[in-house]
Amino acid sequence: MPATNSDIVEIFNRMADLLEIGGDNPFRVRAYRTAAWTVAALPHNVTEMLARGEDLRDLPGIGKDLAGKIAEICRTGTLPDLAALERRTPAALVALMKTAGLGPKRIKMIYDQLGITTVEELHRAAAEGRISALRGFGQKIERQILEGTGQPPAAERLQLIWAEEKAEAIAAHLRGFPGIDRIMVAGSYRRRAETVGDLDILATCEAPEAVMDRFTKYGGVSRVLARGETRSTVIVSPGVQVDLRVVPAESFGAALHYFTGSKAHNIAVRKLGVRRKLKINEYGVFRGDERVGGRTEEEVFGMVGLPFIEPELRENRGEVEAAAAGRLPKLIALTDIRGDLHAHTTATDGRNTLEEMAAAARERGYEYLAITEHSKRVSMAHGFDAARLAARNEEIDRLNETFDGFRLLKSIEVDILRDGSLDLPDSILGELDLVVASVHYQQNLSREEQTGRILRAMDNPWVDIVGHPTGRLINERLPYEVDMERLMAAAAARGCCLELNAHPDRLDLNDVHCKMAKDMGVKIAISTDSHNLGNLEFMRFGVGQARRGWLEKEDVINTRPWPEMRKLLRRRK
Ligand SMILES: [Zn+2]
Ligand SMILES: [Zn+2]
Repeated sequence: MPATNSDIVEIFNRMADLLEIGGDNPFRVRAYRTAAWTVAALPHNVTEMLARGEDLRDLPGIGKDLAGKIAEICRTGTLPDLAALERRTPAALVALMKTAGLGPKRIKMIYDQLGITTVEELHRAAAEGRISALRGFGQKIERQILEGTGQPPAAERLQLIWAEEKAEAIAAHLRGFPGIDRIMVAGSYRRRAETVGDLDILATCEAPEAVMDRFTKYGGVSRVLARGETRSTVIVSPGVQVDLRVVPAESFGAALHYFTGSKAHNIAVRKLGVRRKLKINEYGVFRGDERVGGRTEEEVFGMVGLPFIEPELRENRGEVEAAAAGRLPKLIALTDIRGDLHAHTTATDGRNTLEEMAAAARERGYEYLAITEHSKRVSMAHGFDAARLAARNEEIDRLNETFDGFRLLKSIEVDILRDGSLDLPDSILGELDLVVASVHYQQNLSREEQTGRILRAMDNPWVDIVGHPTGRLINERLPYEVDMERLMAAAAARGCCLELNAHPDRLDLNDVHCKMAKDMGVKIAISTDSHNLGNLEFMRFGVGQARRGWLEKEDVINTRPWPEMRKLLRRRK
């Protein structure tokens, strides 16, 4: 198979990473990265360019040596230099880069100064504070390492959308079965975490025996690990463990609270109980041997003097203190959303037409839908140039005349170029209702460069929203290196919004970033980045993530009617 441009980009970036870890000449490292950017930005396939006899040395940053290497990759699909380099570099260092989300420079420093070569050693060093003691490593990086290395590798956890599919199917299989009273899926699923490990289901029922039968015979079960009177454990494909526990009605609230977690939240609540001489566990709330509560979660919280805390907040990130002080946020709900601000159609890489997308949005009861096609830089998706965008705008004007109480917003997902400039001129952007600006290429810039690039894009007064601000793909691609605090401070100062991309593969901003945005006064757009009709449904994942980030209706721009939202956009100021 002929090599694609992205094969070349990947090989060159890996060369640069490994050379950097190895402490090679910075100019050489830079040369590979520059060449990778150049190739990534090409509108044509390099193999085809070579076949046409084009000289790669005409391209910026490509000399004789690199042109030869590109030709070799196109011919063979590989680069022997890379294989040699991989043999010379400790494999653990390469793994470290992926796990801890650190750049090669930092990995090299950790290796040189602490002699660390495994993920476990790195975790221990971070836990002991030895990372933050290094020059140029703050406590923030140390925390990031602890988070990155403390959890099981992300790939072992199921994305929320797939967890939901399994959980709801099993719950539906149990619900309505004779004798079953209540079914609730607890755990991180109920907290709407972006990925879910095991599924924990709780039931109250009259005939546990029959229910366990029903559960273990569910069609999706690939293995029964345990079958008991009140608890059974099965594996459903692909390797997801599901526990079903039958609990007495008087314990249901306590069990639900206990199994919803998080552990850290539960500990904080139990501590409050201890102060009141109460013992709280999955069976109930006890004073001595006497059960004094636990039928509902409200009762559990009430016994320790707290109002009900929404599951999405239960991460021990200040929710217990806020509850005690009567300062819990009134979290945004799916029904607060009045429209979607990020969608593609068949004109670029979407699967449904403009008319179909509009009809689906209206059917959801939306008041508006922003059509944000890619711009020309995203050539793989047939991104729009100025002329196609103008034609599209006319089409939207015509369609809008046929609608009542609904409008398509003339918009674009304009590409943020390497230097932070935008892929379409201001005169064009100024004619639109709304502009989303996103990074799609050169995701591997240094933190300084990537941050500066996005800040420059935000300097453009026509940019209303920065799309998927970290570019991560859950279980697939790490976020790009970006200084989120600087980004948010700049967004707040400029009145620019940040996107919470509701696509279950993305969900960035993440929960912590959402909270940060709220605290810093940055408004959020929750958008699905829909590429077909069905994707519009993804809004629920975005709202779940927003709730985890403490967001209220006011924090999210698309909870407003269009005229009101329009006033919030910086272009009107
Ligand atoms: Zn995008
Ligand atoms: Zn998009």
